[in-house]
Amino acid sequence: MGTDMGVAALGLYRPVWEEDGRRLIGTDEDVTTMAVAAGRAALDGRGSQVTRVVLVTAEPDTVQGLATSVIRLGLEVGAQVPVEFRLGGGPAALEALASAQSGTLVIGVDVADDAMAGATLLTDGGVPVTLAGRADVSLPMRVRRVGSPANDVYADVRVERELGWAPAVRSLAPRPGFFLAGVPAREASRFGASELASSAARGAAAPIGLLAALIANPAAGRLIAVDAGTATAVDVGTGTAEVREDIRPPIPATRRPALTGEQADVAFSMPAHVRAVQARVGLVAARCVCGTVSYPPRVHCLRCGRQSETQPLELSRFGEVYTAVTVWTPVPGLPGPYTLAVVSIDDSPVRVLARVTDGADGCSIGDRGQLVLRRLAIREGVSDYGYSFQPGLAAGGVS
Ligand SMILES: [Zn+2]
Repeated sequence: MGTDMGVAALGLYRPVWEEDGRRLIGTDEDVTTMAVAAGRAALDGRGSQVTRVVLVTAEPDTVQGLATSVIRLGLEVGAQVPVEFRLGGGPAALEALASAQSGTLVIGVDVADDAMAGATLLTDGGVPVTLAGRADVSLPMRVRRVGSPANDVYADVRVERELGWAPAVRSLAPRPGFFLAGVPAREASRFGASELASSAARGAAAPIGLLAALIANPAAGRLIAVDAGTATAVDVGTGTAEVREDIRPPIPATRRPALTGEQADVAFSMPAHVRAVQARVGLVAARCVCGTVSYPPRVHCLRCGRQSETQPLELSRFGEVYTAVTVWTPVPGLPGPYTLAVVSIDDSPVRVLARVTDGADGCSIGDRGQLVLRRLAIREGVSDYGYSFQPGLAAGGVS
C-alpha cells in the first residue's frame, strides 16, 4: 500500500428487520445482496472508479459459483473488474483493507447474529489505514466445519478470554483507547478499549462499522479485530472520508413475511438466465433511434419496425408506485403475503413489475422508493437475482 493511500468513502447497510436489538436479514437477502447494498452506499454513483472488489465474509452463500456478474452489475463497476472472495471475519477484513491497492472496494458482510454489511473505497488520499500487527493463538477454540453449526470447545467465555483473545489484544494494544471488534463492550473497556465504540460482532463488517465511528470522531487510532483464533490491528490516520449509511428505522422481525409450505421446485432456465442477467440485474433498457424505449430491451422496435438500431439506456433506481396489489393466497416457496407493484421509473417511460420488499405494510399508489437488488428465487439451487421495490427513502440520504 502506498503512503498516501486511504479510505475515501465508506458505506454501511443493515437490513430493516429487528429482533432483541439485533438486525436480521430478509428472506430475499443474502451475502450478495448485502454486499451490493453496502457497496452502493460507499460508491454513491462512482462505480467506474473501482478496479477491484474484495468481498470478505465468514458465511458465504456458496462455496462454488459466487455470483460475481451480479455483484458487478449491482455495483455498476466495469465488466472486467475482478471480484475476489475471501473467507473470514473481522481480522480478514482489516487485512484486506491494509493491503488494498488504490481503486479497491473492500466489502465485509455478516449475515449471522447482528446482520450488517460495510464497504470501503480505497484511493490515493483519504484516511490512511496501515497494518500494525497480527497475533494468533495456538489453537482456535471455536471451530465450524462446512455445513455444521459452530463447535465451541469449552463454551466458557473466561477460558476463551484468557487463552484466546486477551493475550492477542494485549500484544497488539500498547496504549489504551483503541477500538476493538469481536469482544463485548463491557469486557472491551476493561482491557482499555475506547468506550466510544466497540463491537461484540466477529464478522467482517464489524471493524468497518467501527472504522466509520473513528472517521466520524475524527481522531487517529488503533483498530483491532479478533476472531476465533486470530487478531489483526491497523492504525487509522487522520483525514477525511465520506461516510454514508443505508440504515432504515427497524421493523419488528415478527412482521417479516414468512415462507409458506414447501420450497417450490422452480426449474432453472439457462436461456432465460443468460438473457436476463444484463438487462434485469444491470437495469438496462434500449432506446431506438426513433426514441422508443423498451425494457427489457427489444431488438425489433414495436413503433418504427427498425431492427437492432438501439442504444443501451441505464435506468434510474428510483421511481414511484403506479399501481400495487397485495396477494394473500399462500404460494409455496414465496414469502407471503406479498405485494406486487408496477413502478414508474424516474426520467424514463419504463414501468417495471416488482415485488415490494422491506415494507411490512405494503405500499400505495404514488409512493416513492427505489429498486434494490434482491434474491428473487432459488431455482434448482441457483440463486436468481433481480430488483424489488423498497418503499421510502433511507434517512441517510443514500442514492
Ligand atoms: Zn423505433
